[in-house]
Amino acid sequence: MYSTLPILHQPNVIHIGYHIHDKVAADLYQTVTASTFVLITDTRLLPLINPLLNSLQSKCPGRFLVRVIPPGEGSKSRATKANIEDFLLKNSCTRDTCLVAVGGGVVGDLVGYVAATFMRGIPFVQVPTTLLAMVDSSLGGKTAIDTPAGKNLVGAFWQPKRVYMDLGMLMTLPSREFRNGMAEVIKTAAISSEADFKVLEDGATDMEASLHTTQEASKGREKLLEVILASARFKADVVTEDEREGGLRGLLNFGHTIGHAFEKILSPDWLHGECVSVGLVAEAEVSHLLGHCDYAVVERLKRVLVAYGLPIDFDAATKARLGLDDVMQVMRVDKKNQGSQKKLVILSSIGTTLEPKASAVADDAIENIVKK
Ligand code: NAD
Ligand code: ZN
Repeated sequence: MYSTLPILHQPNVIHIGYHIHDKVAADLYQTVTASTFVLITDTRLLPLINPLLNSLQSKCPGRFLVRVIPPGEGSKSRATKANIEDFLLKNSCTRDTCLVAVGGGVVGDLVGYVAATFMRGIPFVQVPTTLLAMVDSSLGGKTAIDTPAGKNLVGAFWQPKRVYMDLGMLMTLPSREFRNGMAEVIKTAAISSEADFKVLEDGATDMEASLHTTQEASKGREKLLEVILASARFKADVVTEDEREGGLRGLLNFGHTIGHAFEKILSPDWLHGECVSVGLVAEAEVSHLLGHCDYAVVERLKRVLVAYGLPIDFDAATKARLGLDDVMQVMRVDKKNQGSQKKLVILSSIGTTLEPKASAVADDAIENIVKK
């Protein structure tokens, strides 16, 4: 069980398999020529990545450095970026340096942005360790940090030379984080392929469970690899067609226009994937309300989300926090809007969308669904 995928017309950029640390070391040192390799991870992950760390350290043809940062969104900051840059400068790192980002989306976004600007740009590779980072944040080259005015406001497009997805790393991932990433996997299948969606419908019980048994080869692990591969392949293909987010890439925002508005109000109590999950249902309901799909499509989506432990609605107390006016106000300043028109991905069936991009939708349709 080992596969590679191309992205942006480059072959073998994305590597996917279980316990692939030796392959990662061999491929990295063959692909990137640098005198110094700097692995950057967070303190929570450091004790969990020994096999990878040992492989990379022992096979490194040059100097190998490690820098550890605190876990959590707070590290996607100007301060942590400066801290890493000062570490690189203190160690006389030049352009001839490759950064290795080992972690979730926080480490990937931050290290990618350091790589984009250090000495006007140095190579980096991603080793995503959360499901969300594997199927979403490590692919596409969007790097960023947060500022007090908001998330991801300062950043750059900077492509990693390689993305190594070791599914063995998911064994230590907390269940809630696994589900968080599953929301993106379900989203992608819903807009791209009914066949992939069926695999999800059939495999809900054994995929995550397979990570917590000692049995190395199992149907559950095969299925998990299959769905991650399909999700990563679709995102990679979309990015290849539309690197700088002209239109097609907007498809990946299914569930995110309304989901982001929820997240803005409910974060950090509710995770991104949880808000997106409720957003997926809401946006599918808008699709139905506008006459573009049967209600059976909404029902099918709801069933899969529930099967993977994701929310499809908010409890009364949370709803009280989400005033309709507040939700609509957040959406009003969404950078994806077309003038004052909000953009939503409209489903026409499971696996197909109305347009190959997000569609402009009138406020009253959204309000009708959100106020329920
Ligand atoms: P995260 O990076 O904060 O990781 C979640 C937690 O899990 C952290 O505490 C981390 O230490 C821990 N962890 C990571 N891997 C683990 C493992 N294998 N075992 C045990 N613990 C592990 O969260 P995330 O959900 O991966 O990423 C969220 C970030 O991604 C946000 O900042 C978001 O803006 C960004 N993002 C970026 C893009 C993009 O296109 N660049 C897309 C989506 C999200
Ligand atoms: Zn998302």
